[in-house]
Amino acid sequence: MKTYAPFISGKFQHWQGDTIPSVDPATGEVWSQVARCGADEADTAIQDANRAFRTGPWADAGIEGRARILDTLADVLEARWEELVEPEIRDNGKRITEVRGQLSGLHSWFRYFAAEARKLKPEAQANSIPGVTSVGHWLPYGVVVAITPWNSPLMILAWKIAPALAAGNTVVVKPSEMASASSLEFARLAHEAGLPPGVLNVVTGLGHEVGEALVRHPLTRKVTFTGSDIGGRKVAEAASAGVVPTTLELGGKSPQVVFADSDLENTVNGILSGIFLSNGQTCVAGSRVIAEASIKDALVSRLVERAQALRMGDPMDPATQIAPLANEPHLRKVKSMIAQAKADGATCLLDGTETANGRQGFYVGPTIFEDVTRDMQLWREEVFGPVLAVTTFDTEDEAIALANDSDYGLAGGVWTSDANKGARVAGEIQSGTVYINHYRNVDPSSPIGGIKLSGYGRELGPGAVKDFLQAKSIWTGTAPVPDPFP
Ligand code: NAD
Repeated sequence: MKTYAPFISGKFQHWQGDTIPSVDPATGEVWSQVARCGADEADTAIQDANRAFRTGPWADAGIEGRARILDTLADVLEARWEELVEPEIRDNGKRITEVRGQLSGLHSWFRYFAAEARKLKPEAQANSIPGVTSVGHWLPYGVVVAITPWNSPLMILAWKIAPALAAGNTVVVKPSEMASASSLEFARLAHEAGLPPGVLNVVTGLGHEVGEALVRHPLTRKVTFTGSDIGGRKVAEAASAGVVPTTLELGGKSPQVVFADSDLENTVNGILSGIFLSNGQTCVAGSRVIAEASIKDALVSRLVERAQALRMGDPMDPATQIAPLANEPHLRKVKSMIAQAKADGATCLLDGTETANGRQGFYVGPTIFEDVTRDMQLWREEVFGPVLAVTTFDTEDEAIALANDSDYGLAGGVWTSDANKGARVAGEIQSGTVYINHYRNVDPSSPIGGIKLSGYGRELGPGAVKDFLQAKSIWTGTAPVPDPFP
């Protein structure tokens, strides 16, 4: 069985310490081990990344040189992304069709942010003071720590490291202990593509051990985190000790507001993609359907009909539509939230614990509840699984109030054939992203991130490179300094 060692200084290190078993969610069997790193490895990785930031080929390359290295990495990813597919699926059980979709596009994030970095120039500042000029420069932070979750390890890794590297930083990645293999294989590939040693190090292990040691390290200058709001709070607290800025991409409980004038089939496709792709294990999962009362019955009966026809199966089989959940503790959590929703009085129209009955592996199928009320756990808390909560509204104001009745604010959807109403309601939904008559698009050009418990800061978009840079103003006197005490 393969044991994955930490990847530091351009190579896998020798590892004889403790390991964490990596379990294949489709079988429940251990398929590899990853190093359980601690403070020592965190220190080695950060010191090495700091060296690579200060001296050597990365430091000397300048913006254009680094952009060229990232373009070459993009070429290599475009040619060899398939090498990364199997380790990702063995770790998190996501179905092959979706993993291939995400990984075949990995190169695009690097190309986009290399191009954005090339636009960076010192900016003359139009100051109003006579006799001095001032110029703004953009400087990288130094060592960035990137902490990632298990649901889409490499796509989320790329969202973080592509702009961070394009900005000239070096990065130490701490992937989820539940899905580390593909990030380690990515680091190997990136160095084969010419990324200089130390520019991208990957250390594995538990969040409260190696993760916290990375965040608290005195040479860490910025932290970018994607994960739960519980993890995000701990990371922000640890980072505050060194006054280190954080970007937090956290969970969601995103609403889908469906008006009676929407196109039913289009809306059903959008809702299915919102909640059942990746078996609901996506941050933007559209988990709360808020349907106009007059169409609720037609909508839920079509949703149930379509959802119960989805094929559950092996994630490696391209015909599979519902793959397992990513790990056993998560399966237990999802099942307990389904049981709680029943106990709270919601009406279960489709029960994914029953459709998954008797299967080996961490399976639960599409689950749909109606009569969900605002006091229920299913309304308030993120399931991060294939569980849809449906409720109804009569007026537009009521729909908006229901949509905003959440501690989270990551995404939302509006379904209507009335363009004005769509724009009006989208404007009122309190979240970082709203889709009208569509759902779940992501693109390098469009920022993504949340408000409230969904976090702060944004990833992607033209501003993402600047999120990994600090402004520095340099003033130059062009006339004698006037006597301050005339
Ligand atoms: P998690 O918070 O348990 O773990 C995420 C990462 O943080 C892991 O690498 C973990 O080891 C690390 N970590 C945990 N505690 C830490 C600590 N004290 N110090 C340092 N690191 C620590 O989240 P998860 O279960 O892996 O992922 C699921 C969550 O991620 C869901 O809530 C989901 O909504 C969210 N998510 C958000 C986005 C987004 O873009 N907003 C995208 C994907 C997932």
